[in-house]
Amino acid sequence: MSSNVSNRVKNLSESATLAMAAKSRELKAQGLDIISLSLGEPDFDTPDFIKEAAKEAIENNFTHYPPVNGYQDVREAISLKFKRDNNLDYPPENILISTGAKQSLMNVFLSLVNPGDEVLLPAPFWVSYSAMAEFSGAKQIIIETSIESDFKITPDQLRANLTANSKLMVFSSPCNPSGSVYLREELEALADVIAEYENLYVISDEIYEHINFTGQHASIGTIEKIKDRVITVNGLAKGFAMTGWRLGYIGAPQWIIKAASKIQGQFTSGANTIAQKAAKAAVLADPSVTHEMRDTFLRRRNLILRELNTIAGLKVNVPQGAFYVFPDISSYFGKSSQEGIIHNATELCIYLLSEAKVALVTGDAFGNPNCLRISYATSDEILLDACNRIKTALQKLY
Ligand code: PMP
Ligand code: GLU
Repeated sequence: MSSNVSNRVKNLSESATLAMAAKSRELKAQGLDIISLSLGEPDFDTPDFIKEAAKEAIENNFTHYPPVNGYQDVREAISLKFKRDNNLDYPPENILISTGAKQSLMNVFLSLVNPGDEVLLPAPFWVSYSAMAEFSGAKQIIIETSIESDFKITPDQLRANLTANSKLMVFSSPCNPSGSVYLREELEALADVIAEYENLYVISDEIYEHINFTGQHASIGTIEKIKDRVITVNGLAKGFAMTGWRLGYIGAPQWIIKAASKIQGQFTSGANTIAQKAAKAAVLADPSVTHEMRDTFLRRRNLILRELNTIAGLKVNVPQGAFYVFPDISSYFGKSSQEGIIHNATELCIYLLSEAKVALVTGDAFGNPNCLRISYATSDEILLDACNRIKTALQKLY
């Protein structure tokens, strides 16, 4: 029978990061020696004190439906965290807890964006922003950057892309996939432009906040003149190694919280109760509990940069956060393997998977067709092996 799937889903692209991770699992299951540097997932286990809080939640029977917007005490804890770590003023009623930052983001897209509205995506952007924009019926306005500008947009670039239909700008800092971090002065300069457009909202995705090598994390939501138009998204997955717990949250003006809660009330009834209590323990802990993981990521970043810099033809930025490197590999376009000419980043990715048995993600998925994303959230040994394999495979191209 031919598929009768809705047009909405037909037009939705599959998550390239999850697709590559699934492909690697499939090849591994077939017995192939695949190294997967495709998925953005810390290789650490969740810290014990967080697991203990979850066990306690079960023992204390936090097993019933929660309030749709999240438990009051957990929202109070997040409110404290926002103030303590980010100097953001979000009282508990301005917080909504959801099933991962992914759901937090989608709630906001659906709450704000009408078909035809313009959504601005500074590229490279995280894959799902584009899918969410598409699903909301938005017109996507991609603002291109390059390695030369450290993959960051300038106020002039932003202004040049704004129109009367601009509704939402979405960015992450530290950035997935480039690892770039916006400094406070840079956010202030962007905020000056945003302030001129009263109908423009900003999603600031700060999920990599704790994996920041500059020692300074700046939140655009602290800038007075635009703070009523900023939605701050955060989550537990990256900084606390809690990807599987599926817990994220937003701080936002109350009307956005109300709209997003309405959506959540119809579709999920709220986030998992046990994960909420675990999240409370995580956000109340001193952020220094995340430092050991951050320091390990920094050491690995240095290792992978050292190795990548020995490969001819790669242009590599120095990521200041997250756990990705986003090298420009366009000098390989036009070269050939036994299978034929490599025209683009997607074909190079496929070549590296079949020849080097290393899974990476094409830059196309992130809005930059000249690059590849490498996730370095794995051991030194595996990273060294992967870099050697990549180098050997690239040297074979002619
Ligand atoms: N934002 C960014 C920038 C991410 O890389 C991810 C990856 N998971 C998410 C949001 C979604 O996080 P979660 O796992 O909490 O849904
Ligand atoms: N955010 C991670 C990544 O970019 C996890 C996968 C996903 O959620 O798409 O790889």
